[in-house]
Amino acid sequence: TIFYEDDADMSILNEKTIAIIGYGNQGRAQALNMQDSGVEDIIVGNRSDDSRKQAREDGFEDYDIAEAAERADIIFLLIPDEVAPGIYQEEIEPGLEAGNTVNFASGYNITYDFIEPTADLDTIMVAPRMIGDLVRELYEEGDGAPSMIAVNQDYSGNAQETALALSKAIGSTRSGVIEGTFEMETKIDLLTEQALIPLFFNAIAAKYEIEREAGIPGEVILLEQYLSQEMAHIFEVMGTDGFIGQLPLHSQTSQYGQMSRAEAYNREEMKSYMRERLREIETGSFAREWTNEQQAGYPMLNRLYKEFGDTEMIQKEQETIEKLGLGDE
Ligand code: NDP
Repeated sequence: TIFYEDDADMSILNEKTIAIIGYGNQGRAQALNMQDSGVEDIIVGNRSDDSRKQAREDGFEDYDIAEAAERADIIFLLIPDEVAPGIYQEEIEPGLEAGNTVNFASGYNITYDFIEPTADLDTIMVAPRMIGDLVRELYEEGDGAPSMIAVNQDYSGNAQETALALSKAIGSTRSGVIEGTFEMETKIDLLTEQALIPLFFNAIAAKYEIEREAGIPGEVILLEQYLSQEMAHIFEVMGTDGFIGQLPLHSQTSQYGQMSRAEAYNREEMKSYMRERLREIETGSFAREWTNEQQAGYPMLNRLYKEFGDTEMIQKEQETIEKLGLGDE
């Protein structure tokens, strides 16, 4: 099911205090959008003074996380997934009352039972499919970021109505709200990150390597690949016109080349790689690995940053960005 403006009624939010826990990327964008949508009682709970000051300047009352959670009827959990379980248990849960709503922006912590809400709560998800800056920017343009909503616990009997009302308040029903589940959100999110992006990265790196072998300068390859932003533009048009719809932007030589070679490509190997990633996500083995990594102080993540940074392609990329002043725009 896809929901639009007429499917949501914000009056269910009347008389409710909404606490934004974590005034970061999503927190600030969603709070400002709801404020502009006419939601009256929004407060912010944040750890640091800097973000609290920003919240105050934006017109919200600011509190420590525990106090904001205690004051609110609806709690938006908009802190990083890695820290959310600890903060939830220590600072949020003690202040919750029966009938309160906890609104997640990702499925991760519920899917893997890292957060286990008591049964007397509504637990819902409104997960924008967009980074925070764009959640705000699109809203200001009169549009909205699409979201996936889900209901995990429906203590009040109104959990879905609340999720829809919140989606409307942040602008998502303007473009469409898809109904899913916490598990579904976790799967598509992690699979994009762990199956699609690694293949995409390796495809770019492989092309770079064979073109270097053919004597083509690194900066020429990288400009063609993504530094010119031509690729970003193609993806943008794909988002509005679809894959076939964007083909006429290219020459006929290009159209023939793209489709004939895509058809001939055997994607079975790719699929079996992706199925392995899906299995790690479904069994929770990735989540366990990532928890262990956090507890160990991120040794692998630090090594990966260093190793990726040391490759010729990435060094050439940084050089080209600097030479052409691309980052200054
Ligand atoms: P951010 O990294 O922007 O969130 C930072 C916020 O969390 C800040 O308010 C920060 O406080 C607070 N925070 C960070 N660490 C701690 C801590 N140890 N204790 C208390 N507060 C802390 O997160 P996002 O907005 O990116 O993500 C929030 C949620 O939204 C996540 O569930 C994420 O999965 C989801 N989401 C994110 C999207 C994205 O594109 N980024 C898209 C859709 C969903 P301070 O200001 O004091 O540093």
